[in-house]
Amino acid sequence: MKLAKALLGLLLALCIVAPLSAQKKSLKFHGKPDYYLECQSEALFKVADEGLDAYPPVVGAPIERRLALYNLDGLLHDTRNDNTEAFRGFVTSRVTKLLADLEKPFKRGLRVYKIYNEAFVVRTKNATIAFDFSRCRCRGHKDPIVPTELAEKIAAKCDALFLTHRHGDHVDSYIVDLFVKAGKPVVAAPNVLVDKEGVTHRREEDDIDNFEVKLKSGKSLKVAVVAAIHGKLMNNVYVVTTPDKYTVCHTGDMSGKSNFKWIPTIKDKVAKIDALLVNCWTGSIAKAIPGFDPRYVITGHENEMGHTIDHREAYWLSFTKLANVDYKYVVMAWGEWFTIK
Ligand SMILES: [Zn+2]
Ligand SMILES: [Zn+2]
Repeated sequence: MKLAKALLGLLLALCIVAPLSAQKKSLKFHGKPDYYLECQSEALFKVADEGLDAYPPVVGAPIERRLALYNLDGLLHDTRNDNTEAFRGFVTSRVTKLLADLEKPFKRGLRVYKIYNEAFVVRTKNATIAFDFSRCRCRGHKDPIVPTELAEKIAAKCDALFLTHRHGDHVDSYIVDLFVKAGKPVVAAPNVLVDKEGVTHRREEDDIDNFEVKLKSGKSLKVAVVAAIHGKLMNNVYVVTTPDKYTVCHTGDMSGKSNFKWIPTIKDKVAKIDALLVNCWTGSIAKAIPGFDPRYVITGHENEMGHTIDHREAYWLSFTKLANVDYKYVVMAWGEWFTIK
């Protein structure tokens, strides 16, 4: 009896974990064009996921990796795939891999994880910092794109959270609460979650705002906030130096010509930037990068699914814009990471 129960349990477990494709879907498509496209998208998401694993982030990109990324551009600009099981399965697979790596020990260097959109986690031996961590949503849908259970586990691994501006694809009060309740520092622009207890608002309009953020570990981050703008909205650009002396700059949704008042000379006013995490659609990205003079450029905000397809910035577009840039650049999909020595 016990054995029969155990076997039944195993069978049930297999049914639950078996991917859709393994569940013997019908391959008869005549007269069922929608079903055909659904199966095709599932196959394309799966091969993109496998392709990214086989060809992880590097400077520039081999053709195999670009094929995987451009395949995603095609899928993510076809709104029939928005919020589908295939789409959600892809994101879950990617973010699960990211979490698995985040849960391993890390001793040397700077590792930059891209969760989704501009939600980055940067990690050194002595600090793990999140920027603009939002679960986000597909346009017209309510379910979070990044599964809440995974987001909670990622947040639990982070020591601090920085929020650049008050748009929903960058600020998620559920995530903010996780940090606040755990007694971890949250730093935001003054008009973000204005009355929320536990959020420190920083920015000086006429100067760089330099300060330290104390972590629960007792170690500190050195932070410089540049008063940038996003159209007409306040957008903090953060330059954060970890206790291990690695410096990361996150630009949020920096956009608008007036940012070029400070961009050309910012490199002389802040610590040497190891990784510039820049919104891929910022105006004149090729002209902006030398102002920061980073060791590496890593783009964010590609294929933000809350936008209409004309503003779901494609990976191919990032490669096109960066093609003539004289800096090392890395274009990452969701749930990927890149290590800087
Ligand atoms: Zn924005
Ligand atoms: Zn945005």
